[in-house]
Amino acid sequence: MSIISKYLLPSKYAKSIFEITPEELKGRGVKAIITDLDNTLVGWDVKLATDEVVQWFNDMSEAGIKITIVSNNNQTRVSTFATPLKVDYIFDAKKPMGHAFKKACVKMGVTPSETVVIGDQMMTDVLAANSNGFYSIMVVPVKSNDEWKTKVNRMMERKFLAYFKRKGMINWEE
Ligand SMILES: [Mg+2]
Repeated sequence: MSIISKYLLPSKYAKSIFEITPEELKGRGVKAIITDLDNTLVGWDVKLATDEVVQWFNDMSEAGIKITIVSNNNQTRVSTFATPLKVDYIFDAKKPMGHAFKKACVKMGVTPSETVVIGDQMMTDVLAANSNGFYSIMVVPVKSNDEWKTKVNRMMERKFLAYFKRKGMINWEE
């Protein structure tokens, strides 16, 4: 495996978080989820969880799977979203640096190998997960247009996705 794929190729790809089920995770011995917020759980401009997202959190919780939301966004954005869900969160996480993920693991009492990372961005979520020993699940962004600050990362992401496709390393369609 090349150095690029080691760091940037997601372990798995999903159309949305709703394809990720407690049964599947438990079957692989997963005890915890670290998830991105913007464009992973809801569109980046949507303030609160939809009913479907609330249900997804409840299903995970009932299955005994812990969740922490780890976002590069600010405190107001992340706490407004996470507080009604009664879920732990870390804001201003500075992904792709990994310290927020390590902090989340300590708080949940799990190891990286017992945890999956879910996110919509290769250059932040997947890179942070892969370089710190986590299983990474990349989802299609909920909203196709991003905030301006994401545009450069998306340009790079498109280049790497094209590279992985050329190499036959990924077989999904966008
Ligand atoms: Mg995101």
